[in-house]
Amino acid sequence: MLFRTNFHTHSNYCDGKASLREMVDFAVAHGFTVLGFSGHCPLPFENTFSITDYEGYCNEVRALKEEYKGRIDISLGLEIDYIPGMLEDFTPLIEKGGLEYTIGSVHLIPPQGVVPKDGNDLWMIDGSRYETYDEGLMKHYGGDIRSGVRAYFHQQNEMLVRNRPTIVGHPDKIAMHNRSRYFKEDESWYEELALETMSLIHELDLICEVNTRGIYKGRHPDFYPSRRLLKAMKQWRIPVLVGTDAHAPDDLLRTEGAFEYLASIDYPTILSSYQRR
Ligand SMILES: [Zn+2]
Ligand SMILES: [Zn+2]
Repeated sequence: MLFRTNFHTHSNYCDGKASLREMVDFAVAHGFTVLGFSGHCPLPFENTFSITDYEGYCNEVRALKEEYKGRIDISLGLEIDYIPGMLEDFTPLIEKGGLEYTIGSVHLIPPQGVVPKDGNDLWMIDGSRYETYDEGLMKHYGGDIRSGVRAYFHQQNEMLVRNRPTIVGHPDKIAMHNRSRYFKEDESWYEELALETMSLIHELDLICEVNTRGIYKGRHPDFYPSRRLLKAMKQWRIPVLVGTDAHAPDDLLRTEGAFEYLASIDYPTILSSYQRR
């Protein structure tokens, strides 16, 4: 049976390139049975990527869900940023939107001990430019990569414990703009931090996504989590869900060999499959 899904999907309500309807129509045309929307959550400062019309987003996803019933199963979700001192509790967004699921992600990191007032107080580890990562690391962590990476993983761990998101979003994205310059992912200090998060995902019984966006955007040669981490995660049988982090219709198809890779290492708990099952 054809069983195509994607739960990590953006639209032009945030930084995506297409309308919700265009994303749905593409998914239907390509045999998807399930499509979950996960726009970037509203943030309390001006920026170029998050949803501003939250009510409009939730209402339109719900309307499409009704309209497309029987053709595709649409879910209302949100990719929520956990930011200490700024956005710590996911509950108000879940309740206000009537969300069916959440993806918990860390993209923005305040310096240690600082309560952030706006985007100027945050290290942006994502986005298209690695220079932004370098500048933020210098500005907020004095160029000390180990402190910055430690803060990233600790912030993520705090998010998992406090909010238990349905899906853990790209849990080692901190490696993307590193581009193997500041550290190598097999260094023991780095691996210990990454595995600590993975073991917490296991303890809390959460789902981890296998995010393919870095590969098809040419920003990172690996999935998030990396192949190396996925091999280690097997021991805990952490359930994984392949997500393309689609920002345009074509992105929905960019699974970049993730299912094949998971099959090749006999990964035990894959929650969705692609042209298989
Ligand atoms: Zn993200
Ligand atoms: Zn995303």
